[in-house]
Amino acid sequence: MLTYFRDVWDGVVTVLIGMRVTWRHLFTPAVTIQYPDVKLKLPERARNRLYVNMDDCIGCDQCSMACPVDCITIETVKSTPDVDLGLTSVGTKKRLYVPVFDIDIAKCCYCGLCVYPCPTECIKMTDVYEFSEFDRENLIYRFATMTPAEAETAKTRLSSYEKEKVEAAALSAAAKMAPSVAPLKPQAPSNAPSVAPSPPKPPAAPATPPPGSDAPGTKG
Ligand code: SF4
Ligand code: SF4
Repeated sequence: MLTYFRDVWDGVVTVLIGMRVTWRHLFTPAVTIQYPDVKLKLPERARNRLYVNMDDCIGCDQCSMACPVDCITIETVKSTPDVDLGLTSVGTKKRLYVPVFDIDIAKCCYCGLCVYPCPTECIKMTDVYEFSEFDRENLIYRFATMTPAEAETAKTRLSSYEKEKVEAAALSAAAKMAPSVAPLKPQAPSNAPSVAPSPPKPPAAPATPPPGSDAPGTKG
C-alpha cells in the first residue's frame, strides 16, 4: 500500500519537474512577433537584397569579379573624348557607359563580397528580405538605365571614333616612312647668266612705200 502512494507521488513530482520550463514561460513576455503584420528590426549590417545606384557606377567590374557565383553581369561601352559622362557623388570621373548591369538574385548567396571592393560604394545590401517570385526570370534585377537605342548610339559613336583614330595613325605612320627631304631640283650652272635671255624680237614691219611708188602686189 505504501508503495502505491509512493509511485503516485513520484509521478506527480516528475510531471511537475517536466512542466517547470513550461510554467516559467507562462509568466514571461512573449519573444515571438505576429509576422508578417509585425516585423523585426534588422541589424544594421544584415545582408539582404542588393541595390545598385547607377548614377555612381563607373563600370569598373570589380563587384562582378569578386562574386563567387557569377551572378553579376556587366557590359560597358567606352565614351569618346567629345562626351562628358560627369562625376560620381564621390568625385570619380565616369568614362564608361554601362548598358547592362544585371544581378541574378536567385543565384546570390548574400555573401556581400561584391559590396566591399566597389570604389564608389554604389552597390549595397538593403534591408529588403521579402522578394519571392513565381517566375525565376523576375529574380534577375536589371539596374542599367540606358535604353537599347542609347546603347547602340554609344557603340556606333565609339566605333566611328576608333576607325578615325586608326586612319589617322596609318596616315601618320605613312608620313613618317616617306623621305624627310624632298628631292632637289636640277641646278643651273654657276657661270650661266643670271638674267634669262629675252626671247628674240619679231622682225620689224616693212616701211610704208611712198605714194606713187609701186607697191608690191599692186602692179599690173
Ligand atoms: S552578395 Fe555575394 S553572391 Fe550575391 S552578388 Fe554579391 S558577391 Fe555575388
Ligand atoms: S564595383 Fe561599383 S562602380 Fe564598379 S561596376 Fe560594380 S557597382 Fe559599378
